[in-house]
This record gives sequence, C-alpha cells and structure tokens, in this order.
Amino acid sequence: MKPVIVVHGGAKDIAVDKMAANQAGCLAAVEAGWQVLRQGGCAAAAVEAAICVLESDQTFNSGFGSTMNSDGEVEVDAAMMAGVTLAWGAVAAVQGVRHPISVAHKIMEDKPRLLVAKSGERFALEHGLELCPKEDLVSPEQYQEWKSGVEVVDRPNTVGCVALDVNGNLVAGTSTGGTTGQPQGRVGDTALVGCGLYADNRLGACSTTGDGESIIPVVLAKTAIDGLAAGSHPQQAAQQAIDTLVERVEGEAGCILLDRQGRIGWAYNSSAMAIAYMTDGLPAPVVFTGQEQPQSTAAIASSGGLH
Ligand code: ASP
Repeated sequence: MKPVIVVHGGAKDIAVDKMAANQAGCLAAVEAGWQVLRQGGCAAAAVEAAICVLESDQTFNSGFGSTMNSDGEVEVDAAMMAGVTLAWGAVAAVQGVRHPISVAHKIMEDKPRLLVAKSGERFALEHGLELCPKEDLVSPEQYQEWKSGVEVVDRPNTVGCVALDVNGNLVAGTSTGGTTGQPQGRVGDTALVGCGLYADNRLGACSTTGDGESIIPVVLAKTAIDGLAAGSHPQQAAQQAIDTLVERVEGEAGCILLDRQGRIGWAYNSSAMAIAYMTDGLPAPVVFTGQEQPQSTAAIASSGGLH
C-alpha cells in the first residue's frame, strides 16, 4: 500500500503575517510523519510524530501555545483512533503534559480510554510520558493576549493528522487547547470519537477542527466517513460533512479526510485552514497556508496532488 499523510493546523482566520509560520509548521509536521511512513513505520507512530511537531509550535492551538481559559491556564484535549481495531484513546482538560497526543496514543492500549484532568495527568506520569510545569505550555504571546483581554481573531483552532501506512492501516489524531477563554473543564469535540476524529480501515480516517459545540451534534468526523461509505470521493464527502454542519447547526469547522485507497480531501467554511500532505510519487510535501478556498483543490488535482 502506498503510504499517505495529511495534517491540518486548524480552521479559522489566519492573519497574513502568520501565513508563513502556519505553512512552515504544517510542512515540518508532515515531514516528521512522512519519515516514519516511508521507512515502513506504522500510521499511529506517524500521526504522533506529526502532531508532536505541531504541539511544540506556538503557532498552533495545541500543546505549547494553546489558547488560555478564563482562569489564564492552558488545558488541552487530544485523541487518537486506529482503523484496524477501532481502538481509541483520549485525554481532556489535562495540564502539564508536554505532548497530549502521546498520552492519547498510549491510552489506546489501555482501559478506560478517556481520562480527564488529574486522571490523564496521572496516567502520563505512570507511563513515563513527558510532564512539564503547566505554565510551560503558555506561550509569551498567549499570555500577553490573555492579560490584555484583547480578543484573538487569527489563531487557527486545533491540529490534526490522518495517515495510511504500507500495511493499509489508517489512523487519525487530533489535539487542541480548546476555545479562547473557555471555562475550566470545558471539553469540545477533539477528545470525542466520531466528532473530533474517526478511523476505520474499511473506509477512511478523518480529523476535524472548529467549533466543538457545533461539531459534536453533527458527529462531524463520522459524518464525513459515512460519505465514504456511501461511495463518495473524500473531497466530496468532506464537503458534504461541512455542508451538513452549516445547514443543521451553523458554526465554523473544517476536516481532512483520507480513504483506504489513499485518496484525500478536505473542506472548511472558515476563511482559512492550513493543510499539508505527502505521498509516494510527490517530489516534496504539498502545503497550503489556507487562504485558498476549496476550489483550490482543482488546482492541486491538476498538479497531481489529489488522486
Ligand atoms: N475543536 C476544538 C474545541 O472545540 C477547538 C476549537 O476549534 O475551538 O475544543
């Protein structure tokens, strides 16, 4: 099977002066994941590697650089799902964990599979995952913004990755700092299977981003996967899923979608969404800063990117 990896850096407005950073971050993430896949590594390791890069980059709302809650603290959510067994793992409202996606990955082997707050932090400690002072996840920029009380308009929401490995296994992962100024303990879609992510080797893998309160009731990731089950191309299925969200509950969201044949698609109704992908046969990863609206996929297709 030809490996494929796709990452996103969140659906939202991206200020012009943040475009290059979004592009570079997604490119670095897809390259990290691709290193794993091209050496025959598994999709779960590739997704973790890619998301760890994004969680380390303060450009994105995940890990270090996450948006701050109403108490001026960072609380993060992350989840991973494997399409071969439908195994999943998730953490929500955790603090002081350097890479939430690594905790989610580890929990996939365990039960229970969704741990919140102190339970998630304790699990990370007991399994030797990297902890840090909770303040270490607060970037200087986020702190300044929180202190000034100025509403941030250009931060992309959430990061995510979907990957297909040489063995035909599909994995999805998503990681977020939630919404700006959210009350302590608020949890959105990211940690919820079917909403923030879904993976099924029989169909595909999806990672979503956007307004959690809107994504949850339309079960956005599973809705996109259901489009694949109905025979749609991932591009069409992704667009239909976003259309469903807009029709039923409004809100802003985006998703990336990869099917079991390695075909990719994405859609969003925000003004931008940073995306990067790589597969065999491409000379280098393809990255978009996101100002290209979905019609840009036609241009990508003509350049051989979508298949
Ligand atoms: N989807 C995430 C959440 O609702 C982050 C966001 O988009 O604001 O928590």
